[in-house]
Amino acid sequence: MGDDGSAELATVHSEIMTCTKCELHTSRKNAVPGEGPVDAKIMFVGEGPGLNEDEQGRPFVGAAGKLLTELLESIELSRAEVFITNIVKCRPPGNRAPRRSEIDACNQYLKSQIRLINPRIVCALGTPAITTLLGDEYSATKAHGKPVPRDNITILPMYHPAAALYDASLKEILASDFRILKGLLTDTATHHNPIVKDEPETGKETLEKWV
Ligand code: URA
Ligand code: SF4
Repeated sequence: MGDDGSAELATVHSEIMTCTKCELHTSRKNAVPGEGPVDAKIMFVGEGPGLNEDEQGRPFVGAAGKLLTELLESIELSRAEVFITNIVKCRPPGNRAPRRSEIDACNQYLKSQIRLINPRIVCALGTPAITTLLGDEYSATKAHGKPVPRDNITILPMYHPAAALYDASLKEILASDFRILKGLLTDTATHHNPIVKDEPETGKETLEKWV
């Protein structure tokens, strides 16, 4: 790999583009590896591509993506400086929740991305991303806005922007959790450190959508 990991990240992304490790590959138009700079300090991890993402091969380009961009701008971050991806890289048909087997099959890519990007903070958007990164005892409702140190990276659970689109009170909570993110960025205790270990994966086959 190159010193900054960009060559290895490109390799991971090209593997995703042709991946057949789970059945989601059969219905996808485009795999959606994710996008952003290899040296991003913040990563966002959502649930999975939707219709627009599948069409364009890019993450968070629909209504939820517009809200995510606005929330970033509300704390003086631009979309271009963060890395955005999902726990599964191919769209679940009809936007159903990704199955545990699909999340497990895809997880090696997310782990590689986290290792290569080596962010300070990983924002887990919605319960499926939160449980994938932290374990089944976590949820958006219980854990949002509370940073969790894991393997020298800070995981910040948040509600999914798609949930906030339909619920003004969730939108306000999400905006307030972005202010917590802003605070973490200026907190020197949130160290930058390369180690990401494997997480144990257990639990439900079907995950609730977002909350
Ligand atoms: N919702 C997600 O979880 N991910 C996307 O990429 C878009 C919408
Ligand atoms: Fe491969 Fe992930 Fe797509 Fe499944 S969702 S086919 S594991 S890239």
